[in-house]
Amino acid sequence: MNVEQVYKDAGALLDGHFILSSGNHSNRYLQSAKVLEDTNRAKLLADALAKVIRESGIEIDTVCAPALGGILAGYELARALGVRSIFVERKEGSMELRRGFEVSQGEKILICEDIITTGGSAMEAATIIEELGAEVVSFAALANRGFCQREGSSTEAKPECKLPKETPFFALDDFEFAMYTPDTCPMCKEGSQAIKPGSRA
Ligand code: ZN
Repeated sequence: MNVEQVYKDAGALLDGHFILSSGNHSNRYLQSAKVLEDTNRAKLLADALAKVIRESGIEIDTVCAPALGGILAGYELARALGVRSIFVERKEGSMELRRGFEVSQGEKILICEDIITTGGSAMEAATIIEELGAEVVSFAALANRGFCQREGSSTEAKPECKLPKETPFFALDDFEFAMYTPDTCPMCKEGSQAIKPGSRA
């Protein structure tokens, strides 16, 4: 499967001149939720990710996603793996397991996101899950922004990656974009105006 093409077809991979959440500029932007609005496409991606995870031989009892971004990807992946699906959410700044969800001692949990940038939210979810006595056995995301090293990729983790080296991280593809600070951005130099894709109608 050409994952990049799937994102392009879904209108989830944009070309242009964008302001990223870091404040840096890029000529590409991943509007990650867009790839899941078509449920057939969501199933296709989750099935492909489940296949890679299954082939690794890692045993998983439950998929846990950090809300909001990870919920759909986590649910689809859990369905594809035939395991339970739960999520953690932020309340007053910190992640919590709510809504009657429980984990048991030693339960093997995979933390799933739609996209992993540096893995900050995934690590917050992992921390709360482990505080509750379960075991985080792996991380997964449909897309990897290239800061962390996914299983099977030769692209090494960058210092910004927050995921632990010893825990496997599965993703379908790396999406590494050129990034520029506003004062070094070649598109700005050409007079083009950068936009914030998240705030567009
Ligand atoms: Zn720019």
